[in-house]
Amino acid sequence: MAETVLLTGAQIADGTGNPLRAGDVLIDGDRIAAVAEPGTLPGEHPRRDLDGLVLAPGFVDAHSHADNAPLLAADDTTKILQGVTTEVVGNCGFSLAPREPARSDELAGFLERLFPPAELDWTSFAELFARVDAAGSVTNQCPLVGHTSLRIAAMGVAERPAEPAAVRRMAELLDEGMRAGAFGLSSGLIYPPALFADTGELTELAAAMGGAGRYVTHMRDEGAQLPEAVDEALRIGAKTGHTHLSHLKAAGREHWGALPSALERIRAARAGGQHVSHDVYPYTASSTMLLTLLPPDYLGGDTEQLLARLRSSACLPELRQALDGTDWDAVLVATTASHQHEGRTIAEIAAGGDPVAALVELLVSEHLRVAMVHFSMHEQDLLAALADEHTMIGSDGLPPGTGGRPHPRLFGTFPRLLRRYVREDGVLGLPEAVRRMTSLPAGEFAVPDRGLLAAGRIADLVAFDPAAVTDVGDYRDPVHPPAGIRWVCQAGHTVVEDGQYRGPRRGVRLTPAH
Ligand SMILES: [Zn+2]
Repeated sequence: MAETVLLTGAQIADGTGNPLRAGDVLIDGDRIAAVAEPGTLPGEHPRRDLDGLVLAPGFVDAHSHADNAPLLAADDTTKILQGVTTEVVGNCGFSLAPREPARSDELAGFLERLFPPAELDWTSFAELFARVDAAGSVTNQCPLVGHTSLRIAAMGVAERPAEPAAVRRMAELLDEGMRAGAFGLSSGLIYPPALFADTGELTELAAAMGGAGRYVTHMRDEGAQLPEAVDEALRIGAKTGHTHLSHLKAAGREHWGALPSALERIRAARAGGQHVSHDVYPYTASSTMLLTLLPPDYLGGDTEQLLARLRSSACLPELRQALDGTDWDAVLVATTASHQHEGRTIAEIAAGGDPVAALVELLVSEHLRVAMVHFSMHEQDLLAALADEHTMIGSDGLPPGTGGRPHPRLFGTFPRLLRRYVREDGVLGLPEAVRRMTSLPAGEFAVPDRGLLAAGRIADLVAFDPAAVTDVGDYRDPVHPPAGIRWVCQAGHTVVEDGQYRGPRRGVRLTPAH
């Protein structure tokens, strides 16, 4: 049982964006019982002194790929040490269910491009969620249904738009996931095989959810075709009650400066009555699979077919042409299956030789299991996004358990916002930054009973030192917990004390609030 405890001495950022204020917070069991002026609550209670700290609702990570965290033996502490108590998972079309037994190898091949290899011994979402619930998790999870996983169950990794029967099958599987407690449908339209889906396929799936779910998308393009990609997402999402654009960005030097016009399109849709939200991570490098640099005609089929194409004699001359102009200093290898070459750019690996040959050699020798950090964005676009009051924060942290040198956003997103964009640059006031990390994502994703520090809410809380909170790692040396996140509690239980994770796992899988 969680106990009764009185939190004293903190400045409260309650998640609404209202100014900091001194206050006492009484926790009784798993909920916040009262919030009051200092010294005014009656009764004798055990106290926790939070002098000099800011007390806020636990942060909600609007975009995570930690679906597999509950199934790992080791505790994934990357988010809780940042003060994150709830994560939205199942993003970018990747979910661990459904699994159609006859297409298990295709699903495994797809998932292993992002997740560490694992035995997949469930079929439905209900079975997966039962496994997740039994294992427990460090943070609360709000799962989405991944379009690509649906597609592989219905039609494998085929490189064509889905025929009507396959769309019907995907809709059935989506319905099963929603009934099992998912928060909506995600898509990742740059990744094979989802990139072969047409707008109609996604529109039909969105329509099948009706107003019950949300359409969450890694859009088809984040560069030259960004406006068209936003329009497509809005068209698909219009069939649901809510469209969410994941990790909004303008990628590629030629497209820097394009973010304000994307935000304009979103504002126009909102003005027209559509419900639209979006998230960003506070970095100018992205991170995903290295193979996404390849042109689409290299990406069809399963892993073996893809590798065969990379081994063909036509490959190198074709790719040299297709990838002409790529800045190979801007492509940093983060994680590989063998752990070789991690922390080196493609230019460094090529060592004065042909970078395209180095790229192909790496993909082939690592069986496509290579994640990269790509320095592809400009600070001005990030600042434009942060200036928008609808911009929430998501880490886009890649799955735990792969080792290597993942993008530092996995370890530092939330402390970094508080350090760089609040304390140093003053881009956001502290209460507003907390709102972007708490009530805004909690509201948009229908996270139940969380996101505000108020009487009656679940006592998921974080206390941090506003003068010291900081991300610690960098791109070459990312694996460091942040500093200044002093205390975290979940449902009234202390789980982080003096920046150290104490455990045990207190997270639960959540179902959408109604
Ligand atoms: Zn994504």
